[in-house]
Amino acid sequence: MEALSADEIRRSFVNLSKSQVKAITLPPKFTELPWESLDYLGWRDGKAPNRGYLVVRRDDGVTGIGVTTQASGAARRFAGLCDLCNTAHHVSDVALFAARRAGTAGREGNTVGMYMCADLACSLYIRGLKELDVPQGETATPEVRAERLATRLETFVHRVCG
Ligand SMILES: [Zn+2]
Repeated sequence: MEALSADEIRRSFVNLSKSQVKAITLPPKFTELPWESLDYLGWRDGKAPNRGYLVVRRDDGVTGIGVTTQASGAARRFAGLCDLCNTAHHVSDVALFAARRAGTAGREGNTVGMYMCADLACSLYIRGLKELDVPQGETATPEVRAERLATRLETFVHRVCG
């Protein structure tokens, strides 16, 4: 993806309050991120580890989604797949995240839940840029997996915004 500025990121969130946006800690080494290998920018908040963020470049602009997860014990499966990129992980490396829905639905307490790579580094896993210690059933090429990831991301964004 094309690099994003800190301003673009902070302006992009559709499901966070102003104070939540203010509290965001940007990813470490923000200026050195491997943008060319990213389908979306995903990271866990260094100062609030139960918070995570996904920022996607879309046809009509940049959309950011804030998610939360329980620190531990939420996922009880022995091993799991990330619903976004289909990478297989040990149970500790996949997390159930909840995204508050945008607008009225979110204010009424509605959330969208999804299992995702706990470090939100899907893009790096599908390209073999981050090591995995669980056998992978997936045999598709990184290009095909990136396309599928983009489709699933779009569906996720629609469920949060819709
Ligand atoms: Zn993933």
